[in-house]
Formats: sequence, structure tokens, C-alpha cells
Amino acid sequence: MSGSVAERLAAVRERVAAACARAGRPVESVTLVAVSKLKPAALIREAYAAGQRDFGENYAQELRDKAAELADLEGLRWHAIGPLQTNKVKYVARVAGGFHALDRLEVAKEMSKRREGTSPLPCYVEVNVGGEDTKSGLEPGALGDFLAEARALPGLQLVGLMSLPPPTDDEARARGYFQTLRELARTHGLPGLSMGTTHDFELAIQEGATVVRVGTAIFGERA
Ligand SMILES: *Cc1c(COP(=O)(O)O)cnc(C)c1O
Repeated sequence: MSGSVAERLAAVRERVAAACARAGRPVESVTLVAVSKLKPAALIREAYAAGQRDFGENYAQELRDKAAELADLEGLRWHAIGPLQTNKVKYVARVAGGFHALDRLEVAKEMSKRREGTSPLPCYVEVNVGGEDTKSGLEPGALGDFLAEARALPGLQLVGLMSLPPPTDDEARARGYFQTLRELARTHGLPGLSMGTTHDFELAIQEGATVVRVGTAIFGERA
């Protein structure tokens, strides 16, 4: 992959806009989260200078450290996109503007406690739509009970569902995962859909994504 972060970001933005146009959706209906995990703060500054404001990080300590290092960047929003252990919640609770991998009630309760007195944290519940053994995320059948409990917690705002489906080059299959997530969100009355990465964000937009999480296409391959 070639070009500066600003150039790659511009190319991704164009592709997002084109996908929105094809889907008959306004471009403002999709938030592009630039996934900066394992990438240096200097590259985040480059993306910020090019107008990017939403950034995604997977690892709790990395998010905490980068948030401290980049505290001077006004209006930057951090999205915690990886699963959290309960004892790491404290690292992201203060700095995150969104949490995309909620899948355990203990984590929800801890986050709720740590957000007391601040604005409610927009949360996406992660769903395992691929039925994989090893992946994080709730089984679709467990969603109803989970939401009933999580919605009652102060300090959290349950806004949508999130998924990271198994990678596939089979377009029909990828679409199927996204459609499953969309139907689940509709069934449970949630407006947000955090889905689609470098590999498949255009497809995800066609299937209704409100947030796409794109790393490699903006910052290059990770080590
Ligand atoms: C790393 C990651 C992404 C970004 O993946 P790319 O293929 O680099 O675009 C998106 N979502 C989650 C949950 C991730 O862990």
C-alpha cells in the first residue's frame, strides 16, 4: 500500500461516499472509525490533521496511553473496539467515547460503575454471527436477556450491535453475516450497526452499517 495517511484516508472517504451513494444513503449516516491499534501516535496525528476525528483501539492499556499522549487533539473521539477484561475497564472508561465490544454483563456493570457522574457511554453489543467457537461476542439467542439487564444499568447507552464476522471472499456469505446482524438489531430496537473493516466496509454500508471500522486501508499493514 502506498501514499501518505492523508492520501489513504481520502481514498477511503471516497469509497465510503461512493458506497453510500450506491445504497441511496446520506454520507453522514456512516461514521468512519480509523482503527489505529499497534500504530504510532504520530500517524494518528497525521490522520487528525487530515480531519479524521474517530479512532478505534483494541487494547485497553494502549488506548489509555495514546489518549494521554494525544490529549491535546481537541474533539478526538476514542472508540474501544476490542473485548475488555473486567480489570481493564478502568483504563478505557474515562477516555472512551464509544465501546464496540460489549459482550459480558460483568464488564457492563463495571463500566456502568466507572461512568457514574459522566455522560452515558454509547455501547454496541458484540454478536457472534459466524457461530465461531473462539470469537468473542454473544450468541444471537442470548441477546434478549443480555439487553434487558444491560439497558437497566446507568452510565451506559445501548445504541447498537457490532460484529467482526469470519473473513471470507464469498460476497454472498459476507452479506449474510451483515444481514443477520441488521435483523437482530431491528428485532431488538437498536439503531446502530458497527460492522465492516478494510476487507468489506463497502458491502457493510450496503447492508446498513452506521459505523465502519477501517485500519489497514488507512494506516497500512500491522506488524
Ligand atoms: C483490527 C480491527 C479492525 C480493523 O481491521 P482492518 O482489517 O485493519 O481494517 C476492525 N474491527 C476490529 C474489532 C478490529 O479488531
